[in-house]
Amino acid sequence: MPTNTPVNAAAEAESSSEYGLETLAIRTGQLPTDEGSHGEPIFTTSSFVFKDAAQAAARFGGDEPGNIYSRFSNPTVSAFEQRLAAMEGGERAVATSSGMAAILSTMMAFLEAGDEVVSSRSIFGTTNVLFDKYLKKFGVTTSFVAISDYEQWESAITSKTKLLFLETPSNPLCEIADISKLSVLAKKHGVLLVVDNCFCTPALQLPLSLGADIVVHSATKYLDGQGRCVGGAVVGSNKLMEEVYGFLRSAGPTLSPFNAWVFLKGLETLSLRMQAHSASALRLADWLQDQPGVKKVHYAGLPSHPQHLLAREQQRAFGGIVSFELEGGKEAAWKVIDATTFLSITANLGDAKTTITHPATTTHGRLSDEAKLAAGITDGLVRVAVGLEEFKDIRGDLARGISLL
Ligand SMILES: *Cc1c(COP(=O)(O)O)cnc(C)c1O
Repeated sequence: MPTNTPVNAAAEAESSSEYGLETLAIRTGQLPTDEGSHGEPIFTTSSFVFKDAAQAAARFGGDEPGNIYSRFSNPTVSAFEQRLAAMEGGERAVATSSGMAAILSTMMAFLEAGDEVVSSRSIFGTTNVLFDKYLKKFGVTTSFVAISDYEQWESAITSKTKLLFLETPSNPLCEIADISKLSVLAKKHGVLLVVDNCFCTPALQLPLSLGADIVVHSATKYLDGQGRCVGGAVVGSNKLMEEVYGFLRSAGPTLSPFNAWVFLKGLETLSLRMQAHSASALRLADWLQDQPGVKKVHYAGLPSHPQHLLAREQQRAFGGIVSFELEGGKEAAWKVIDATTFLSITANLGDAKTTITHPATTTHGRLSDEAKLAAGITDGLVRVAVGLEEFKDIRGDLARGISLL
């Protein structure tokens, strides 16, 4: 393909079969500059100047497309939006200052007092707080259902329901929801289906092609891939994204151009990284299954996983997150974590660096014992977000603690 012509995102969305995902990840949203810069420039500016008063009026009036002010749009941010939209197969993406800002903006765009949300129970902890505490203050209520119980999903939908929300695979137990099946349900009831695609990314899963209306992202995780920046995005049709953009422009949780540039670079290697994360995670899950003291391994790539076949159909690979349950409870879990020499003890994920965490006392520590039980977070559970270090070293760092059990 020609390298000197910037790929146009709109044209791309129409002919998304013309170029493959890896090409879109590297070529979409290139910014032409007078200097012929090969790398995407970072536009560190708050505002943009106009040729004359008439152009200023035309821009503000919406008669002429173009940048006005970086809360509204910025060329580096737009490049990231075009690239991600092309990869997700959406008409448009709207970048946000964090993953939480992406979820908040989506909710603010489509919900009003009296509306209801039906959400999977197995979602990111802060998303739960956003729904259960803050949206509630404005009269929006959420009912939480088991991710793969479709009867529960359907019976939770009322005439006030506007939106279904989920993450698949779930964190940390790797449960899979059937996106196509839920999209049929959403269409039947005339509600929006919103999928947080943070764990798979477009490199492994395309929710819009499976019938979802909107994809939300924490770009902080795999889209960046090296733990450098916080950011997010919402992807969907032009019509829906115009609403999300309207909220963002008025409320202001926009992405900074520097962070957008980091994510543009991250996207270029996303597919390769996701394949490498997935390959090591599968080897690790397979090895963990045979270790004494390990009661259960949660990873959809294992044929023993109850939704292995669904994951195979819906995803290109199984992702980088593996969790496992130790027979010795919290004591054993802490022993394995503390015996590591280079794995990072942190709750973050989607990094080149492997991270290890004890959900029951960190990410899910605020839950009551009953809520932990309902969510399947046992005291012996350990979560590993498999990074890109040499596989035998990751395995060795875990084997050190497991051999002490
Ligand atoms: C981290 C995360 C978020 C929130 O993203 P931030 O960028 O931290 O605001 C949302 N959903 C999932 C699945 C996440 O892992």
